[in-house]
Amino acid sequence: METYYSKAAEAARKADSCYAPAGQIHYYDLVLKEASGSILKDVDEKEYIDLLASASATNVGHSHPTVVNAMYEQMQKMIHYTPAYFYSDVAIELMEKLLEVTPGDFEKRVLFGNSGSDANDGIMKFARAYTGRQVIVSFNGAYHGSTYGSMTLSACSLNMRRKMQPLVPNVYHLPFPNMYHSYPNESESELSDRYLSYFAEALKTYLPVDELAAVIIEPIQGDGGFIKPPKEYIQRLYHFCQENGIVFAVDEVNQGLGRTGKMWGIDHFDIAPDIMSIGKSLASGMPLSAIVGRKEIMESLDPPAHLFTTAGNPVCCAASLATLKVIEEEQLVEKSRVQGEYVRVRLEEMKECFDFIGDVRIYGLNGGIEIVESKMTKKADGDAASKIITHCYRNGVLMITVAGNVLRFQPPLVITESELENALAVLEDAFTQLASGNIELDTERKIGW
Ligand code: PMP
Repeated sequence: METYYSKAAEAARKADSCYAPAGQIHYYDLVLKEASGSILKDVDEKEYIDLLASASATNVGHSHPTVVNAMYEQMQKMIHYTPAYFYSDVAIELMEKLLEVTPGDFEKRVLFGNSGSDANDGIMKFARAYTGRQVIVSFNGAYHGSTYGSMTLSACSLNMRRKMQPLVPNVYHLPFPNMYHSYPNESESELSDRYLSYFAEALKTYLPVDELAAVIIEPIQGDGGFIKPPKEYIQRLYHFCQENGIVFAVDEVNQGLGRTGKMWGIDHFDIAPDIMSIGKSLASGMPLSAIVGRKEIMESLDPPAHLFTTAGNPVCCAASLATLKVIEEEQLVEKSRVQGEYVRVRLEEMKECFDFIGDVRIYGLNGGIEIVESKMTKKADGDAASKIITHCYRNGVLMITVAGNVLRFQPPLVITESELENALAVLEDAFTQLASGNIELDTERKIGW
């Protein structure tokens, strides 16, 4: 092992002595140098099938030629001019496109940023400005980013607040509905009732409803463990917000852009949110985010309340337009849906064979496999999950975990059938080897979150 990974290990050690630890969750001593489609190559020339897609930031695959060419052309014309003062032609084209492809046939406005985090900060600002209210409700398990605002909205790691408090005031978290931990024989509808009753209880005891500015939710929770709430829950939550003048905001940073087998995560619930954040794959990993929302909400603030010098960068906008074109032309939303269903069935079959596969939650080419001590106890088994991904890594399949014990499955949506088959075969072998007690972790360092 040691000699095989020598170059990468050496380079990673060098990086560890340069880079501050707050900026990377450690998994492996992997140092990448090239990527194309769904295949990564490290500094030892070893190839991996990418089941992470750069944290869902490369839905159309790595260095897609259409994206590369669009960026190259734009770079030759103009690398940057700030939208803080003037528009660029390519940014205008992208604004129009985003208004067209996002849900809601009401009048909308768009605003660019650099990251998913700043887009979610923007949502907080707009919701407060528009409603004249302060309180924002978010959810346990949420990941909304790591700027002060978006970090306050998040609730999935103690390291996202430890030593940094106080955070932004007046943000509260509700439990996120999770069918895997439903009561025995509890239906989706009963579970929805129960989780809405937690909200009702909060409104009765410490959250005055007329002080609520927004509810922000990941329609399908990503880093929290790939959890899809019942449709009824989201719809009732949405209607409650509508009836009470509360902005209903969704975070599509992770689950948007075809990832779930629909264009947007919220499309699974037949709702057009008042405001949404988009990032990651929006420009194939180039730094670009967007907030899209109802005109009246988006016009509730004056400049420079939410502008960034490098937001809406023309090269990023060109990358984004090309990315959206590829999603359409290669029918990646449909591909994600169809191939995702195939993967779900395959994993459900594997679940029958291994007691440590507690739950399979696959929505499009996207989702989580929950690793537990046993189906009976449903007790999280982070060590087993780490062993599985380590076996995959050693055998050329790159996968990480979220929420400690959930395998994260998010390949680029362009993954070929044979790549997918190979990846599933390696994953199945990892399950078999784990069951036989054949996988040892070779690192003293903690793996994962
Ligand atoms: N929202 C969600 C749902 C995310 O998954 C992430 C990133 N994991 C973010 C926001 C933050 O995006 P960024 O890292 O680009 O700031």
